[in-house]
Amino acid sequence: MARNPVPVVLIGVGVLWLALSSDRPQPVADRRRAHRGSIPMQGEAVMAVSRENLTAWLRDAHAMENQAIEILEKQASRLEHYPELRAKVRTHLEESRRQAERVEHCLHQLGTDTSSLKTAAGKLIGTAQQLSGLFASDEVLKSGIADYAFEHYEIASYKMLIAAANEAGEHEVRRTLEENLREEEAMAEWLGQHLPEVTRQYLHREAAGKSAKV
Ligand code: MG
Ligand code: FE
Repeated sequence: MARNPVPVVLIGVGVLWLALSSDRPQPVADRRRAHRGSIPMQGEAVMAVSRENLTAWLRDAHAMENQAIEILEKQASRLEHYPELRAKVRTHLEESRRQAERVEHCLHQLGTDTSSLKTAAGKLIGTAQQLSGLFASDEVLKSGIADYAFEHYEIASYKMLIAAANEAGEHEVRRTLEENLREEEAMAEWLGQHLPEVTRQYLHREAAGKSAKV
């Protein structure tokens, strides 16, 4: 009855990526080619390129965290029959708010103005998540799948950011991002371990004629 939400989530992730990658600044290397005569050493060039990309990717990560907050807020007010899952969602909601602040702090450390941070592109995943979860009779399970996918999207993003921070020689930024990565990995791990139990609870509630949706 309820459609599989995975394709919808993946399309959401893909569309988000396209939206976020559309307004990149001109790469450092291109501009350098336009100014012959001032070619720095290779190591310096890698650091400059890394730093510039790191800044752009941190802005994407900020939009990603805002999106996570929006999804988790919705879930935290529902899931009334799944108190353990709801408690975890609420904990991770608080973590996600701190993660967004950490990402903003990283941008400040790189000397970036954060007043224009965009959040609109991130709305797409929220819409996909809503489509996949809110109208389904097994909303709790569809949300679980979407959350598990989202945590892995975040894990991949932070691994990429950490590598870029390392190449940029921004070690304090790297350590801050590693904190976020650890929290995403812990959340993904928890979901991976608990989704079978949530499924079991769902099936038992439904078999007993109880409300099982959320
Ligand atoms: Mg997060
Ligand atoms: Fe997360």
